Amino acid sequence: MAKADVPWAQLLAHRDTVARYEAKVYRRGPGRCDYWIGAISDSGHGKIRAGNKKTTGKSWVVTAHVLGFGLVHGVEALDRIALVRHTCDSPSCQLPEHWIPGTRQDNALDYASRSMVIGHALTDTRGAAGRAVAIRDAILDALDQGRDVELAIAGAIRAGQPGGAEQSALDVPAAVTAPRWKPPRPPVERAAPVGPEQLHGAEQPGLW
Ligand SMILES: [Zn+2]
Repeated sequence: MAKADVPWAQLLAHRDTVARYEAKVYRRGPGRCDYWIGAISDSGHGKIRAGNKKTTGKSWVVTAHVLGFGLVHGVEALDRIALVRHTCDSPSCQLPEHWIPGTRQDNALDYASRSMVIGHALTDTRGAAGRAVAIRDAILDALDQGRDVELAIAGAIRAGQPGGAEQSALDVPAAVTAPRWKPPRPPVERAAPVGPEQLHGAEQPGLW
């Protein structure tokens, strides 16, 4: 679905959609990727059903971090940008500080410059979607079983990095990423949602 076809202002103001978004983000604290624990697309991006028939007439499956960017920076900012990049190269990440506006060309340059770094997210042997799914499932299993979630995340990342994991990020001025709206914290202790279905085949892979 093209970004322009989505009524973002309406969806960003839709309380149920915002609550559903927050319920699917695993918040970890300053500077750490907040991973998406809902549906994940073939490109490794979080996906969420936004809106509903009763309130907004219908619903739209949108990319989670695009919705999140709109919540943080406002619909005008969202309208102005081509796409939202991840400085951490983890497409399912929902940490506002890891998002910057960009273009597809920027993304291609990021990939070219960092896909050869041993242990980097972009070199994960499972690919972006496989990595995001593995991290999500590790978080949900750990929550479900009362195990240490950080250990589970570290293990899930390492599993795709035979050469060792390295979590580097683009160096971006704080002014670019400073969020206007702070997501509520911490919904970390809640019960794990049950059975997040994947959207493979249900949505065009892509950044929006
Ligand atoms: Zn991140």
